[in-house]
Amino acid sequence: MRKKSSVDSKSYYKEPGPQFDKESPFESMMQRFRLAAEILKLDDGLFQYLASPVKQVIVSIPVVMDSGKIEVFEGYRVIHDNVLGPSKGGIRYAPDVNIDEVKALAAWMTWKCAVVNVPFGGAKGGVRVNPHELSQSELERLTRRYTANMLEVFGPDKDIPAPDMNTNEQIMAWIMDTYSMNSQRTETAVVTGKPVILGGSQGRKEATGRGVVTVTLAALSKMGLMPNKVSVAVQGFGNVGSVSAQLMYEQGASIIAISDLSGGYYNKEGINIPEAMKYVKENKNSLEGYPGAEKITNEELLELDCDVLIPAAKEDQISRHNAGRIKAKIIAEGANGPVTANADTMLDEKGIMVIPDILANAGGVTVSYFEWVQDRQGYFWTEERVNRRLNRMMRDAFDNVYGVSEKYKITLRQAAYVYAIDKVATTLKMRGIYA
Ligand code: GLU
Repeated sequence: MRKKSSVDSKSYYKEPGPQFDKESPFESMMQRFRLAAEILKLDDGLFQYLASPVKQVIVSIPVVMDSGKIEVFEGYRVIHDNVLGPSKGGIRYAPDVNIDEVKALAAWMTWKCAVVNVPFGGAKGGVRVNPHELSQSELERLTRRYTANMLEVFGPDKDIPAPDMNTNEQIMAWIMDTYSMNSQRTETAVVTGKPVILGGSQGRKEATGRGVVTVTLAALSKMGLMPNKVSVAVQGFGNVGSVSAQLMYEQGASIIAISDLSGGYYNKEGINIPEAMKYVKENKNSLEGYPGAEKITNEELLELDCDVLIPAAKEDQISRHNAGRIKAKIIAEGANGPVTANADTMLDEKGIMVIPDILANAGGVTVSYFEWVQDRQGYFWTEERVNRRLNRMMRDAFDNVYGVSEKYKITLRQAAYVYAIDKVATTLKMRGIYA
């Protein structure tokens, strides 16, 4: 029998249903970029520069499967830019990943790093594979060969990958080892999101969820709402969703719904999140059959009457088809791109405050930055120090973006793009174009 790989199955979401848009993610990103460029009156040449990725690499990855047969997979790495520093961004394994999606996600990383003021450019990688169909050793061979094909691209001063959808710290460990074997020295700083024992950072695993909660609390305080008086619905119970739910629960919020691939679980009195986390651990990483809650769908969860909605599953979950039915006051985008560009105006008209992905989920890359710094110094911080610095950077980023939104009277999403693009464009102007 095939041995199931260690990849976290909760983070793998199926294609959205037919009622949802499958907007081109690159087009979605460009729509928002264009709008911010207009607000900033960005020079046309700089616009062109920032609209085009610096480098796009597509590789074939042959893998000898356990059966002895060779299968060939396609892998991608897109460097969107390296104006602020080496490029940074995760690698996702998914059967439907494609170059268009990776290009959009790479650009998002550029804006994300700029929003939280970490000195990185943006990149993203992907392999077109369903990792759940691979054994652990097939997954290792795939990862090592992908890394070998990217030896010229990756590097601690050049391009630094990290986990993303369906990739985890074991996969990062293989990337680190393959790169190190080829350079004949241990290069921990070539990848982040590694296990703590081999140069990972304390707090990295929880960082994205922790960051989501920091900015959610900041938004609640702007609205005059107390965290212990609000209701929260969380879509997705993977790394980001479960940590966000847990930390909001610790703040005294009532978590009225959670969900994963098996569907949604609703209890208007509030779900005991530590219990749900224990249940998932003991139930093959799934909420399936979770007692004490009414079963709903992932789509119904989005439309619940709640104060805060945290979509932490995958992209394209809120589109013009269901945006009109969203009742939350605040949406904190734990996932990348859970709201399509054509739903932005509808949500704004309803007065919903959307904390955009490039701000809300930037806690992950922020602690990736801390990990990289620690690896390069060979000096490791306590979890308390990591969390304190993360909270400060996320809080500052929220305040900066909020300030821009007030200055231009625009949404937080537009403000985050304006802040980020302004920063990258100003740096680019100073560096100039090398001829
Ligand atoms: N994949 C994560 C993201 O989308 C983390 C990237 C990183 O840490 O480099 O932000």
